[in-house]
Amino acid sequence: MFDQAERIFEAPLQYRNFISGEFTDALEGGVISRESPAHGRMVSQYPASTRADAEAAIAAARESFDAGRWAFAYGGERAKVLREVAQSLRRNADDLALVETLETSKPLAASRGEVLFAAELWDYAAGLARILHGDSHNTLGEDMLGLVLREPIGVVGIITPWNFPLLILSERLPFALAAGCSVVVKPSEFTSGTALMLGRYLKDAGLPDGVCNIIAGTGDQVGQAILDSPDVDMVAFTGSTRVGRVAIAASAGNIKKLSLELGGKSPSIVFADCDQEAAIDGVIKAATINMGECCIAGSRLLVEASVAEAFQNRLAERLQELRMGDPLDPTSRIGAIINRAQFDRIAESVRDGVRDGARIVCGGDPENHRGLFYPPTVLADVKPGMSVARQEIFGPVLAVMPFGDLEEAIGFANDSDYGLAAYVWTNDLSKALTCSRRIRAGRVWVNSALQGYPELPLGGFKQSGNGRETGRYGIEEYTELKSVHLHIGPQAERWVEGA
Ligand code: NAD
Repeated sequence: MFDQAERIFEAPLQYRNFISGEFTDALEGGVISRESPAHGRMVSQYPASTRADAEAAIAAARESFDAGRWAFAYGGERAKVLREVAQSLRRNADDLALVETLETSKPLAASRGEVLFAAELWDYAAGLARILHGDSHNTLGEDMLGLVLREPIGVVGIITPWNFPLLILSERLPFALAAGCSVVVKPSEFTSGTALMLGRYLKDAGLPDGVCNIIAGTGDQVGQAILDSPDVDMVAFTGSTRVGRVAIAASAGNIKKLSLELGGKSPSIVFADCDQEAAIDGVIKAATINMGECCIAGSRLLVEASVAEAFQNRLAERLQELRMGDPLDPTSRIGAIINRAQFDRIAESVRDGVRDGARIVCGGDPENHRGLFYPPTVLADVKPGMSVARQEIFGPVLAVMPFGDLEEAIGFANDSDYGLAAYVWTNDLSKALTCSRRIRAGRVWVNSALQGYPELPLGGFKQSGNGRETGRYGIEEYTELKSVHLHIGPQAERWVEGA
């Protein structure tokens, strides 16, 4: 992989938009260049699309949806296309993983795992395309049959962030396509490579032109055009709560439906009775996966007071063993932060925490590392009101707060504007079940961390968003229900005569 990366450094990969089945440059001809955060070398150039490109993509999606060829296609036909894309993802897993690693700086093994999991999602959605169905009511009297039709919602805009580019797109796009929607995809301007590669796989799989359009560009140009457009019926937005609010405001224009997957500040809750070594490993995984640039990162550690000091010290010890380095090196677990601005935000959050009274147990010294590598950092003596306990940092930073009993643990866990995920470590079944039921979050892992399955839905409570992706609910999100009232036999009643 080092050789292949070297070739990309010498000749960065060039990408084009995918609109109406054609591969095109931005109308104004501009490009966005992307450097590998870990290597400081240019690796990709994407079209710098503008509003005009976005409008062309939206028009193509609208036309294809209104023509009905995909919207009314047999589910088996849709399933075949989606399965073929899954196969292309598997066949091209090495290339896709390399692009993902060079653009995001996540370790190569993680990138490869994400590509293969993305393929699973396309396969799973293919299955749903065949079983999507409505309902019937045969209990409305002898002269009435009620049908409930499930129809594709229409043109869907999918706007994604930079942290899990192909994976997050695959949690949404195949489900929208399985439902029969037409789509405009806008990936993050920092990591558009794998989304743009997908255009070729969709075309080769035989997706009708215009059903899926993929364009690169910035949020204020392309993203905003999608949010504003009266021709877009729904937007699936994944990103920050700040831009989520922009999406809500823009959706008022044509009252479009929004599915929002936003930020998080998820707790890992460790009870004294749990398997401590397994918990330490799980807590580290949840806090540092993807360099902590993960919406469901376990960035708050709530640990039972009786074991807090020992747990925290052992945690710091184990963290020193986690290898940070070149993401192309198979032994690295932690790569570089996505860009300088994000790196500086992380450093500033840690400084704020220390100023507020938190104590650095380990890490927190980015100046001792080169480039954009931020060391895993544990902050102790954190109080619930501090910004490090409340704000999403989006870096490998863990804020530790001891708790006294189950009630206090649940209180701390729920004392957040967010509600995306929670991790619970205990061997006491009733504690595990009580936490699972009372924590206000979309996903709870018990004695485990971050395992994902296409079968299970994901989404957030509170300011972490609304709507659910994946699982069988994932396809329903992209549908509308319609009731059909079917009269049977002669018309006995007359409206006019009965008056
Ligand atoms: P971001 O909100 O800055 O950007 C997300 C996307 O929105 C990008 O494609 C961006 O170009 C676009 N965008 C920006 N301004 C826009 C505008 N005015 N109109 C339309 N689109 C616009 O988020 P990010 O920095 O890319 O990602 C990090 C954030 O995403 C974190 O807050 C993280 O928690 C969140 N996230 C959430 C989930 C989830 O499933 N809940 C998953 C991953 C990331």
